[in-house]
Amino acid sequence: MRIIASSNGAIGIEQAMQALKNGGSALDAVEIGIRAVEANPDEHSVGYDGYPNILGELELDASIMDGRTLNSGAVAMMRGFPYAIAIARQVMERELPHVLLAGEGAERFAREIGAEQWDDMLTAEILEVWRQGLAAVRANERVAGRSGKDPEITEETPLLGLVKLATDPERVNGTVNFIALDAQGDIASGVSTSGWAWKYPGRIGDSPIIGAGNYADNRSGACACTGMGEMAIRAGTARSLVLYMKMGMPLGEAARQAMTDLRDLGGDFIGGMNLIALDSQGEHIGMSSRADGTYIVQSADMNRYQSYKRKVVEIPARWGGEARE
Ligand code: ASP
Repeated sequence: MRIIASSNGAIGIEQAMQALKNGGSALDAVEIGIRAVEANPDEHSVGYDGYPNILGELELDASIMDGRTLNSGAVAMMRGFPYAIAIARQVMERELPHVLLAGEGAERFAREIGAEQWDDMLTAEILEVWRQGLAAVRANERVAGRSGKDPEITEETPLLGLVKLATDPERVNGTVNFIALDAQGDIASGVSTSGWAWKYPGRIGDSPIIGAGNYADNRSGACACTGMGEMAIRAGTARSLVLYMKMGMPLGEAARQAMTDLRDLGGDFIGGMNLIALDSQGEHIGMSSRADGTYIVQSADMNRYQSYKRKVVEIPARWGGEARE
């Protein structure tokens, strides 16, 4: 039995391992681990009190995958429900022939199954960070000679330039990944995020896209991503890594190849990417495009998780076609 997670999963990994030890499934462990992160008020990139979109609204994305059957469930752009991973799991497990529900449909489903709903998903503190960030961007806009005379955003305000200017690379990173291997040898993987801070309303990242930010197959292993989700969507990263293993590559090589595919993407917008992966034997790896990244691992014989360094494949960032630090 083993669980690996992005480092912000530390708050939930021990509870998740306890669930496995009590006979719970890999899916249970993934849901329990991620729920703890979604409820963590100090984590501003997942669940409650995450950074909102450019309009100041919190839209959550999450997915879960069962490596035994390749069944999956996901929600995207969902407002008002903190435990996105639990709702994603219900999409997979209820009598419903769908994999991904988005926006109002996801919210309707969440209400229908009686999921926990919160009126206030954002604290005044985070709303203030958003307000100040927006004011700074709008001031910039005026300097750049664009629209932006009106500090308020209305239905008519052009958001295109705002979203590009508002991107704060320090805030791009943040999503939780969990992958668990249970006593039966079953693997499950889960991802949950509030997505990219200050994103365009309706933007959906890689986290709820099976094959992009999340993939699990008992026969080969599993992979989950954080970072600039658009890149993982374009490269089909999580599925690629698992498929590379299925075609015979060892875990380390498959992970390096999946990162290299991301590095080789063309186009004007390229940023940081990270992944964690586990093979069917329980071997694990973490990769990042930046130095000093870590991930965490806990096995059945450990009382506490251990932190590991991610291996690096550099991806030079480009923004609007220009190189960027
Ligand atoms: N991958 C997430 C997304 O693109 C964000 C992140 O990990 O920072 O929505």
